[in-house]
Amino acid sequence: MEEYRDPKLAMQLSREIHRITTRPWVLMEVCGGQTHAIVKFGIDQLLPKNIELVHGPGCPVCVTPLELIDRAIAVASRKDVIFCSFGDMLRVPGSDQDLFSVKAKGGDIRIVYSPMDALALARKHPEKQVVFFAVGFETTAPANAMCVYQAKREGIGNFSVLVSHVLVPPAIEAILSSKGNRVQAFLAAGHVCTVMGYMEYFPLVERYKIPIVVTGFEPLDILQGIHMCVKQLEEGRHEVENQYIRSVSKEGNAHARDIIKEVFSVIPRKWRGIGEIPHSGFGLSPSYKGFDAEERFVLKDIHTQECSECISGLILQGVKKPDQCPAYGKQCTPDHPMGATMVSSEGACAAYYRYRRFEEVPK
Ligand code: SF4
Repeated sequence: MEEYRDPKLAMQLSREIHRITTRPWVLMEVCGGQTHAIVKFGIDQLLPKNIELVHGPGCPVCVTPLELIDRAIAVASRKDVIFCSFGDMLRVPGSDQDLFSVKAKGGDIRIVYSPMDALALARKHPEKQVVFFAVGFETTAPANAMCVYQAKREGIGNFSVLVSHVLVPPAIEAILSSKGNRVQAFLAAGHVCTVMGYMEYFPLVERYKIPIVVTGFEPLDILQGIHMCVKQLEEGRHEVENQYIRSVSKEGNAHARDIIKEVFSVIPRKWRGIGEIPHSGFGLSPSYKGFDAEERFVLKDIHTQECSECISGLILQGVKKPDQCPAYGKQCTPDHPMGATMVSSEGACAAYYRYRRFEEVPK
């Protein structure tokens, strides 16, 4: 990746952003991966003082509601279940415990690297119910959809999925239409657009008159995405532009979108710390409902209140920064996380703690 981390080119882009900036602008990077790159490489420190980067909701682990973690814990605690998940969900705190604690008490929880691994376990253990925790944005949806499709084709009756899929464009719209919104341009997440393309952003750009630039994850990608946003803002334009041309086309990946459409329907979803956003998630479509773990294990009666001290909802909407949370680095650390944004490898609080915790906190 060295070519995308060239310091000379980075400084050139930084100088160019300084040159064209004439007034204050607030930009949001949507994805937690971009947040980590910004904080790790100090990209925000290369920008003019009047350009503020705020961190968006694009960390799937962070926005999975507490209620769903509690439902996962309930099903993973059952003796008849093998519960499969990506590793980053295991330490996300539920109301009383996390999935790691369930595993420590003897729960059969397996870390998998693909949903197909969970399906293989279901084939191998017909005497058990195998449940896969299908979490993520549009990026992980095609593989998760494929495993449900495959389970149906093979008639694997002991397999189900606990779905928590969320979608980027409705989240951007929720931020833009919220009362306290300060965001004037977005760096959209390049990997999401690799799957979905960027057609969905044209109506948003028209409705809210804001630039959206599809952006990658390396330092030069992000600096170039910022440059494209600032240029539009300074010139009074609002367009969808694609910085991440080496991966993203306007239409995205047609095969991936087809399998998503086959298995999932768009539904309202709750976002941790934010609340319910209409049309903001995927749920299993009626012909795949038989694979829904929430229905199979009657989990919908589990309702949970979010922790009132954690301000991750405000962080995920770009209203606050992690170091403005009173618990940051004190009661809340990666060893004792109070919220998912401190646990997740893509969480903004974790990024600040990892790369910035010895810096002076701005007043
Ligand atoms: S520092 Fe901890 S308590 Fe504060 S917002 Fe982040 S995760 Fe929540």
